[in-house]
Amino acid sequence: MGTRHDVDELRAAIRGTGLRATPSRIAVLELVRASDAPVSHGDVADQLASQAWDRATIYRNLTDLAEVKLLKRTDVGDHVWRFEARSADGDHHESQHPHFVCTECGVVECLPEIELSTRRARAPRAIKQRQVEVHVRGLCDACI
Ligand SMILES: [Zn+2]
Ligand SMILES: [Zn+2]
Repeated sequence: MGTRHDVDELRAAIRGTGLRATPSRIAVLELVRASDAPVSHGDVADQLASQAWDRATIYRNLTDLAEVKLLKRTDVGDHVWRFEARSADGDHHESQHPHFVCTECGVVECLPEIELSTRRARAPRAIKQRQVEVHVRGLCDACI
């Protein structure tokens, strides 16, 4: 767990959505926020394995936090839900960044934000509304 101040901030963020700020929800949110790449339920459960919560509780916490939009759920194409923290200002200023997926080892990394140009091409409404996900596939540094 982080400093007192961090925990207070996490608790306030969770309560602000109307959810109860249980110790496991605070720990799950802290872990996902501290991660610089999207994490799966398995990753989170492994990292919290020393705690008393079972995997089903951690899974429910992840889906609850995603439902209230503190977390964002991403499927990079391998049918595994991964979770990452959303920015505090919510959907309106949501950053849209693509994810890099290694085709060899499956590692997932966040890439810098990109702008999809829709000025000339006919494009589905979802692109204009920024409701799409971009996945870039290739070999990671360790596999190349
Ligand atoms: Zn790799
Ligand atoms: Zn990301």
